Amino acid sequence: MAEPRGQKCILVTGGSGLVGKAIEKVVDDGERRPDEEWIFASSKDADLTDAAATRALFEKHRPTHVIHLAAMVGGLFRNIKYNLDFWRRNMHINDNVLHSAYDSGVQKVVSCLSTCIFPDKTTYPIDETMIHSGPPHNSNFGYSYAKRMIDVQNRGYFEQHGCRFTAVIPTNVFGPHDNYSIEDGHVLPGLIHKVYLAKRNGTALTVWGTGKPRRQFIYSLDLARLFLWVLREYDEVEPIILSVGEDDEVSIREAAECVVRSMDFKGELLFDTTKSDGQFKKTASNSKLKRYLPDFQFTPFEQAVKETCNWFCSNYAIARK
Ligand code: NAP
Ligand code: GDP
Repeated sequence: MAEPRGQKCILVTGGSGLVGKAIEKVVDDGERRPDEEWIFASSKDADLTDAAATRALFEKHRPTHVIHLAAMVGGLFRNIKYNLDFWRRNMHINDNVLHSAYDSGVQKVVSCLSTCIFPDKTTYPIDETMIHSGPPHNSNFGYSYAKRMIDVQNRGYFEQHGCRFTAVIPTNVFGPHDNYSIEDGHVLPGLIHKVYLAKRNGTALTVWGTGKPRRQFIYSLDLARLFLWVLREYDEVEPIILSVGEDDEVSIREAAECVVRSMDFKGELLFDTTKSDGQFKKTASNSKLKRYLPDFQFTPFEQAVKETCNWFCSNYAIARK
């Protein structure tokens, strides 16, 4: 017999990715409420660049709430190569998801922006009011403008139709189930994979760029807990930055050294300065988050990196790479 339908049906697009898997874990580990049914959708359930397939997904599940994560995602070097594809695919996905949510009467949508979409030439720290205040870094203009349009659409759906469509702005995310591809992925999963191979092959670890750029990293499981709070409690249409504090920003060199310690790598550390550094920094303020959640505890970076390295080593055969 079919399970009785909960009062809330939460559809998570991009449910098979880094952030989606983290939300699924947090929900399964005790955060699921009795009146909630959760659907974690991947591209196998629907290609969201296709409007008809997106509508069919919404008709099938009739969600009351949506966490919209699905996107073409990649690190600096994938962005540099495919700016046009990032723009086109993500524009299609976002328009299809937001419009299907509107058409089917979804009560709330929480979409996902990123701190890398902020203006390149700016003052620091960056805050939520600055998304549209200047061109993004050249390396990822396609991804950035597509993401910025989510904020434009959310405003439009609210002003014309009164919809509660909002967005969160995380910094660089990492954790289990990331994309550990060295060419296409983000820096931490790339470095974890490189250290794994360097240990196995007895070679040096080559960090790309100078190691000087700075990043705020957020553990996917911390981000997942914050997503649940935004879904349930946050009532603004304006986005909110989900980030560790400005003091917790680290250089790429420090991040690499943390991976080296976590994986007990004893080999040499090299820097390939022929590779791009990308945006030097995108230091974001988490003041708004702290006003809402003054007691939120982030997992210490060292511990989160260690857990992620352990996950990758234990799941090497199945990890995306
Ligand atoms: P990810 O691990 O690469 O996962 C991407 C997800 O999107 C997967 O579930 C994938 O499904 C799905 N997807 C991609 N194209 C699709 C399509 N055409 N139709 C349906 N589903 C599609 O990405 P993530 O790191 O979890 O990112 C989640 C969200 O966070 C994204 O919106 C991203 O922009 C944002 N974000 C990420 C970071 C970061 O550092 N990772 C930082 C800031 C913001 P399959 O598994 O079936 O391919
Ligand atoms: P970003 O934060 O959006 O720029 O994207 P990434 O997560 O790809 O981080 C890019 C930064 O990490 C740049 O400064 C790169 O030079 C540096 N980096 C060092 N080694 C690597 C690596 O193995 N992979 C990636 N993606 N970046 C690396």
